[in-house]
Amino acid sequence: MVLDDLGSSLRGALDGLRGKSRISEEDVQAVVKEIQRSLLQADVDVDLVMDLSDSIETRALEEEPPAGTSARDWVLRIVYEELVELVGESTELPLEPQTIVLAGLQGSGKTTSAAKIAWWFSKKGLRPAVIQTDTWRPGAYEQAEEMAERAEVDFYGDPDEDDAVKIAREGLEATADADVQIVDTAGRHALEDGLIDELEDIESVADPDHNLLVLDAAIGQEAKEQASRFEGAVGIDGVVITKLDGTAKGGGALAAVNETDSTIAFLGTGETVKDVERFEPSGFISRLLGMGDLKQLTERVERAMEETQEEEGDWGPEDMLDGEFTLKDMRKQMEAMNKMGPLDQVMDMIPGLGGGMMDQLPDDAMDVTQERMRDFEVIMDSMTDDELENPRQIGRSRTERIARGSGKPEERIRELLEQHKMMDRTLNQFQGMGDADMERMMKQMDQ
Ligand code: GDP
Repeated sequence: MVLDDLGSSLRGALDGLRGKSRISEEDVQAVVKEIQRSLLQADVDVDLVMDLSDSIETRALEEEPPAGTSARDWVLRIVYEELVELVGESTELPLEPQTIVLAGLQGSGKTTSAAKIAWWFSKKGLRPAVIQTDTWRPGAYEQAEEMAERAEVDFYGDPDEDDAVKIAREGLEATADADVQIVDTAGRHALEDGLIDELEDIESVADPDHNLLVLDAAIGQEAKEQASRFEGAVGIDGVVITKLDGTAKGGGALAAVNETDSTIAFLGTGETVKDVERFEPSGFISRLLGMGDLKQLTERVERAMEETQEEEGDWGPEDMLDGEFTLKDMRKQMEAMNKMGPLDQVMDMIPGLGGGMMDQLPDDAMDVTQERMRDFEVIMDSMTDDELENPRQIGRSRTERIARGSGKPEERIRELLEQHKMMDRTLNQFQGMGDADMERMMKQMDQ
């Protein structure tokens, strides 16, 4: 994830301020140095980094912290506000009928993003359609059709037609019933003039409400040049940053946002249609800084719970926090987590659990890989109801029996029990937060 490293290094630098009530120049410089290092490593433009460091330094030294605020909290607050300012607002995309054109280089993730964005709008109750006009890349049509099918949204394309502008025109007509029309365009290897001409023509046919530029997070400094070309041709009012799951960079895209005077609309975090997040500046930075991001978590939790409940009947997060955490709960929770994303990412979004607490756990505490998860499911199928409810009673002879029944090694069964214990302990810490904390958290989650 972009700037992944920033949260932990910054927490380290801020920890140096713990217990202090006054901030010295050296303290601030130490924090600013960490921020600079992380941002530059993540490919953020040098000028942007320098502006940000100056603002943080000036504010931390010149502004008076409110009474009763510790030096650490004060600096953290300033860093947070300045970083939110740096990444900018989220692109405004009201939940109403609209047309969106996606532009970008080949391989940047346009086709994938078209289906993802369509899926996102469909979850908000709108009817989207994807119109595929890429006549250049072999396989683009099939890929787009398949992804639209997975996203369960309308699709238009014509594999026998070479004229992309004609496809766009006909596609917009054919999908006129849809609320949100998303036009995917061709990308070439480089910024060829032909690409830009075609894009301009499609843009004038579609007359979109939004032109979104799709950028691979790993693009680095080239983002600036690309952005200005696309900006000059059609005007860019939002950026989609893709492949954030595969890189610790992504700062280049911030330069593109700055260059086009636009904002970030969506983040792509994986290859499936569901791996998309609406960009939320404050939540995004909170997450980076280990402050938690309840809004994203709520969305993901709600979505996963809805899906799990459709399949499993009633089961909600409160069951996880209430009373005994059994293997049955673990199985349901694994299914839900599978839909939400890795547990550590989910945990990172919960204030108080992110950062500090995750650091105390062994690295692999939350590492339930797909393969282990499948094994765990098979193993749980070989357990009795009583064993699932009371896993503590599973000793050596029961382990042997379960191993024979499931065809899995005893070692795997011990791993499962160990994993269960680890989750149980984590949830106990959760419960140990106290009623007031919990109520506050639940209230925030309900918003
Ligand atoms: P296009 O040429 O711009 O239409 O790009 P595609 O949508 O075909 O994407 C190029 C490659 O990147 C494909 O293999 C996608 O599966 C992959 N891809 C796109 N978005 C993401 C993402 O957010 N994460 C990951 N891991 N892969 C992505």
